[in-house]
Amino acid sequence: MKAAVVKAFDQPLVIEERPVREPGPGQVLIRLEASGLCGTDVRLVRGDWPVRPDPPYVPGHEGAGVVIRTGADVTDRRAGERVAVGWLGWACGACRYCLTGQETLCPRQRNTSLGTDGLHAEYAVAEAAFCVPVPADLDPLDAAPLACAGVTAHRAVRTAGVRTGDLVAVVGIGGDGHLAVQYAEVAGGTIIAVDVDDDKLEVARDLGAAHTVNARRSDPVRYLRELGGAHAAIVAAPDARAAEQAYESLRPGGRLTLVALPHDDTMTVPILRTALRGISVRGAGAGSRADVADVFALHAAGRATLIRHRYRLPDVNDAIGELGAGRAIGRVVFDLRS
Ligand SMILES: [Zn+2]
Ligand SMILES: [Zn+2]
Repeated sequence: MKAAVVKAFDQPLVIEERPVREPGPGQVLIRLEASGLCGTDVRLVRGDWPVRPDPPYVPGHEGAGVVIRTGADVTDRRAGERVAVGWLGWACGACRYCLTGQETLCPRQRNTSLGTDGLHAEYAVAEAAFCVPVPADLDPLDAAPLACAGVTAHRAVRTAGVRTGDLVAVVGIGGDGHLAVQYAEVAGGTIIAVDVDDDKLEVARDLGAAHTVNARRSDPVRYLRELGGAHAAIVAAPDARAAEQAYESLRPGGRLTLVALPHDDTMTVPILRTALRGISVRGAGAGSRADVADVFALHAAGRATLIRHRYRLPDVNDAIGELGAGRAIGRVVFDLRS
């Protein structure tokens, strides 16, 4: 099979011929149809992540495809079924987090493409129990990125506690942000989209944002305060200053939810105002299997749209360049069907 391989950090990926692995007990072999490119991938392949997988390895952690073979003891998946795989490759199922619906916090979790080959390839082996069925009316090119970007945005909107009538600032209209705009709208929020790129703001408006602010030209804090302040702000821009601005734009009792992961990992939070104004700061990482199923259902029902750009795997380095430079609007996805 063909796979995109990281040979060394900060070197272009190489398309290589690799053997197809056999699924072990509890695993399935998937012929991948689509694999999404995530901001985390870009950092991982550059060695700019807290965990550095040992090259050579295959990156990619949001994929969709068809089960070809099942390993021993697999009863819940069958050959021919279309499934998706996300960042959460496995969790223990027995710890306090797993038992209380918080499997993304499982201390023993394994993540797709960390310590095992990922999904920028024609085939992959995955844990059967962590594959989520893809509805028949959902395109695999949509399902793949939704298994990471979708669940992350969905989890962010839930973490932000968006309720009907809330003024919700979504900061950064990229792969995650353009989905967060839609999910927060479905949840009943009135959306203010903030970005530094007019094209992305136009997309946000098309997707339901009531207001847009170009943070390069006008001050989003002032704009939001004039509206009374945001009930919730979701920071999907990898920029610590943008997170600080989002904090400042909240009304008393407001909720800041951090999603994007900037290189400069530190923001300043004023303690006195946080305490006296009852502000909360929350984090939202990847989602659970239930989140994946919920997101698939939303999109299959036509309640939200993924904006994506289709690439072929041999163009993997161009795709990484586009995403790394912040030029991609929506999500980059590799079409792996020959
Ligand atoms: Zn991801
Ligand atoms: Zn666990």
